[in-house]
Amino acid sequence: MIHHEDWSRGEPRILAQRCPAGHVWYLPRLRCPKCGGEPTSFEPGEAGTVFALTSLHRRTDGTAEVLRIALVDLDDGVRLMTRASDSVEVGSRVAVSVGAIGPHERLLPKCEVLSA
Ligand SMILES: [Zn+2]
Repeated sequence: MIHHEDWSRGEPRILAQRCPAGHVWYLPRLRCPKCGGEPTSFEPGEAGTVFALTSLHRRTDGTAEVLRIALVDLDDGVRLMTRASDSVEVGSRVAVSVGAIGPHERLLPKCEVLSA
């Protein structure tokens, strides 16, 4: 059983995991994917760089919606998928947080461009 109470379970935070050898990763696992070590969860820092960006166009109840999705490499060594604001571009320095998004106010990771 993994105790990993993050945004996917309704807690307003992002969690990553690390093993005693120092490997880090994002999606929760029972063992380190590189060495098999026992993981502990930690909250990575919010700063990162956008690795890739895409837009999804979808229609819901007759209206068009554009979702911007970014892959962000956090400075703490993990890559995660987030919603992205309109000003985010590939290579942008961003801050990742968790917020209520969309008509159902689901908790999701999101990123905003870091101000200098
Ligand atoms: Zn490891």
